[in-house]
Amino acid sequence: MKTASTLTHLECGHCGATYDAHRLMNLCPACSKPLLARYDLARAAQTLTPQALASRPANLWRYEEVLPVQRREAMITLGEGWTPLIHAQRLGQAIGCPNTYIKDESLNPTGSFKARGLSLAVSRAFELGARELAIPSAGNAAGALSAYAAAVGLPAHVFMPRDVPTPFQVECRTLGASVTLVDGLITDCGARVREGVEAHGWFDVSTLKEPYRLEGKKTMGYELAEQMGWTLPDVVIYPTGGGTGLVGMWKAFDEMEQMGLIGSKRPRMVTVQSSGCAPMVRAFQQGAEFAEPWQGAHTVADGLRVPAAVGDFLILRALRESHGTAVAVTDDEMLAYARQMGRHTGIFPAPEGAACLAAQVQLLEQGWIQPDETVVLFNTGSGLKYAHLWA
Ligand SMILES: *Cc1c(COP(=O)(O)O)cnc(C)c1O
Repeated sequence: MKTASTLTHLECGHCGATYDAHRLMNLCPACSKPLLARYDLARAAQTLTPQALASRPANLWRYEEVLPVQRREAMITLGEGWTPLIHAQRLGQAIGCPNTYIKDESLNPTGSFKARGLSLAVSRAFELGARELAIPSAGNAAGALSAYAAAVGLPAHVFMPRDVPTPFQVECRTLGASVTLVDGLITDCGARVREGVEAHGWFDVSTLKEPYRLEGKKTMGYELAEQMGWTLPDVVIYPTGGGTGLVGMWKAFDEMEQMGLIGSKRPRMVTVQSSGCAPMVRAFQQGAEFAEPWQGAHTVADGLRVPAAVGDFLILRALRESHGTAVAVTDDEMLAYARQMGRHTGIFPAPEGAACLAAQVQLLEQGWIQPDETVVLFNTGSGLKYAHLWA
């Protein structure tokens, strides 16, 4: 049976070239930059209405019209998305910003928001005939790929840095993936995936190197608006590695405005990175269009240990268009603010999620955020897989 998808074509985010959306694609063949999925939004708007949404399933597939999957049998789901948006009242009072909210992505399958992207990427890869899937990952993406590949029954090859914490390795192996530990960083893992693509025809589901992980992560933007009664907050703080969530939400806001679901008001988007790996912060401060790779990247926040991002120009564009900013915080701050978030909310955050709180406090002190503004922090994962950090 067909879905209500209104997917029309793919468009390069850099050179604007357009492509048929109904075959497997990685980067733009013309300029090697990320491809973006485009929809017939006028048609989508006829059925994607607040009233219709009220009776739809409590997962990300509720936004079917603006998702790429064409056939119902190809929707590979473990219940991803529609995570709670929690008004963190005690935390907000403690830091002097009462309208602080946490979008708690730790409740996704596999304990992180990587489930959103990989659900869509695996569904589409399966639908378009990929036979084996491969990914370079700092940890959470590998777990999510392993889960969705297992759900549909496709082989998954995951490449992670050798020092990735044990829970991530165990998770992937238990879910049946083939796991290779690489001496080096996620960029070195990416090189190993490319070898397998050449040699064995694997399909590469690296972040932003195929168009659909972005479509999964953009649903955070749809949920944010729907959960806030079709308004958006003043500020969104997002822990940025490859930037898929930030770029995805920015795309979602644009789509929603075109469909008449929201107006033109946008949140100021904030990227937070670790001071041990902050290529986007540096590029933002320099006013650059692209980011130079970060040398000697190190941080306990595995999801932020991304020295170079293929979507760098899309991240920087969203930050500037939104009048946002980019800040770095130390690993010690992440660990300390994880405790503060935990004690005041009941959420045990990943260090990446805690980084958002550290950034919020820094921006409140600088006066960049006003105490009466509405601020949404993204807790992108559960602290459980990183529990050794606080032990
Ligand atoms: C991957 C990851 C990030 C970074 O996400 P991007 O969309 O790649 O920027 C942040 N937090 C956690 C827990 C992650 O796993």
